[in-house]
Amino acid sequence: MPLNEENRLDYWSNDQVRCPHCDCEFEPGQEDMYDLYEEETHEVECPVCNREFLVNINTAIIFKYSTDDQEVEIGYEVK
Ligand SMILES: [Zn+2]
Repeated sequence: MPLNEENRLDYWSNDQVRCPHCDCEFEPGQEDMYDLYEEETHEVECPVCNREFLVNINTAIIFKYSTDDQEVEIGYEVK
C-alpha cells in the first residue's frame, strides 16, 4: 500500500529504500544510486514506477569484534 496517514511508520527507518508511490523496495547499490549513502535528503526517481520522491538516510555505527586471528594456538594449529 502506498504511503498514507495511517502507515507512515512502514516508510520510516527501513533497511531498503521503499517507494512511497508504488511500495516497491530496492537497495541503492543495486540501482547505481550510490549518492544515497551520503547523509542528506535526496530526490530520487523510482526504478519501478518512475515517480520522484525524497529519501533520507540515517546511518548507524555497528561495532563488531573479531578474535579469530590469534598469535597463540587455541584449539587448532596456527599457520
Ligand atoms: Zn515506485
